[in-house]
Amino acid sequence: MPRTTTVVIGAGHCGLAISRCLAERSIDHVVLERGEVANSWRTQRWDSFRLLTPNWMTRLPGFSYAGDDPGGYQTAPELVRLIGEYAKTTGAPVRANTTVESVSPQENGFLVRTDQDVWEARTVVIASGAHNLPRLPPVAEALPDGLFALSALDYRAPGQLPDGGVLVVGASSSGIQIAHEVHRSGRPVTLAVGEHVRMPRTYRGRDILWWMDASGVFDERYDEVPDLVRARNLPSMQLTGSAATLDLATLSRLGVRLAGKLAGVRDGRAQFSGSLPNVCALADLKLGRLLDTFDAWAADTGFTDCGPVARFPATTLPEKPPLTVDLGEIRSVVWATGFRPDLSWLDVPVLDRKGRITHDGGVTTWPGLYLIGMPFLRRRRSSLIDGAAADARDLTAHLAGHLA
Ligand SMILES: Cc1cc2nc3c(=O)[nH]c(=O)nc-3n(C[C@H](O)[C@H](O)[C@H](O)COP(=O)(O)OP(=O)(O)OC[C@H]3O[C@@H](n4cnc5c(N)ncnc54)[C@H](O)[C@@H]3O)c2cc1C
Repeated sequence: MPRTTTVVIGAGHCGLAISRCLAERSIDHVVLERGEVANSWRTQRWDSFRLLTPNWMTRLPGFSYAGDDPGGYQTAPELVRLIGEYAKTTGAPVRANTTVESVSPQENGFLVRTDQDVWEARTVVIASGAHNLPRLPPVAEALPDGLFALSALDYRAPGQLPDGGVLVVGASSSGIQIAHEVHRSGRPVTLAVGEHVRMPRTYRGRDILWWMDASGVFDERYDEVPDLVRARNLPSMQLTGSAATLDLATLSRLGVRLAGKLAGVRDGRAQFSGSLPNVCALADLKLGRLLDTFDAWAADTGFTDCGPVARFPATTLPEKPPLTVDLGEIRSVVWATGFRPDLSWLDVPVLDRKGRITHDGGVTTWPGLYLIGMPFLRRRRSSLIDGAAADARDLTAHLAGHLA
């Protein structure tokens, strides 16, 4: 039976970041990957996908973007190439096409069964991703059987959908982009909007994520936020990989029909919550607070290389958002309601009643078992590619201490 000190599960950028940090400490390890390196970016993104983070934010341990377009936004194939190069240059010991089927504790470590072989390891790092499966709301079960439905993980292009009306459920990053693209294909789109995080692409002449980075908002730590569960469950930012802002007001102006959160299905009609004005007002308020933080940081640090302080108008909505829509008008549904990890193979008692791993910043309650790549794992930036470096360094330091 092959043995190693650490098994890393998953060769996305997080697994590779951990691998690089383990190598720096000469910790013997393998990276087991069910597909190829960067599998999620190869297989689970739509055709027109671009990162919403600018190129300069694609940073990993020992790597930072050195191309000629730091403010640009990469396509998925470009990112696959970049991560593939990273795996090569770091010499990551990746075993591709190896699916982990179970991880169980044993004396002095873990037994890791795959569809190829069985490994013994003293420590395991779970880097298998936060977005393996769609997170569907209970109302999904109430939709009529004949309605064509898919999730943002399976959506590729409007041509997949039958002609006719489309209901996109969820107005975060994936939902607004899919609604926009499907609308441009000529299909009438209804967008069901729940709680969301409104974000302009730029503020005071700089990318909004530049402000989050410079002002330290992205560095906020998991043990400092007042409500960590909420912070970890926040919807993704309403951003797209382009220089333009795509917000609800823009979508509405273009002709996308905005409705409240999808609440139920009854008598052949989809029912929407009446809370749309409230959730938009809340998102406007939170955006204002975030901009206050940036302005305060600029004033405190004397930063002036930017435009003047400004505020965005409140989200303008249609006068009477529909409370019900006849499902006869809707030919397909795209669920953009978020994602969840698939940990069905984990036989270590670290899951809570909702199936979530209990951990303290990626250090699970089972000694020697670690987790990386989850939203707000250790910092606000943990949800992004750019968060992997600091998290991987911290977790590898803990892991080395455990081994010692
Ligand atoms: C739609 C979408 C858009 C995003 N856009 C951005 C963006 O613009 N900028 C940004 O910074 N971040 C973005 N993110 C977030 C970013 O992708 C996450 O940080 C990332 O998912 C976490 O990286 P990871 O390496 O942990 O996971 P992944 O990239 O998902 O890698 C996990 C790997 O584990 C493998 N795996 C899973 N299960 C097993 C198993 N049982 N055995 C073996 N291997 C397994 C998978 O095949 C995969 O290769 C986006 C996420 C999504 C879903």
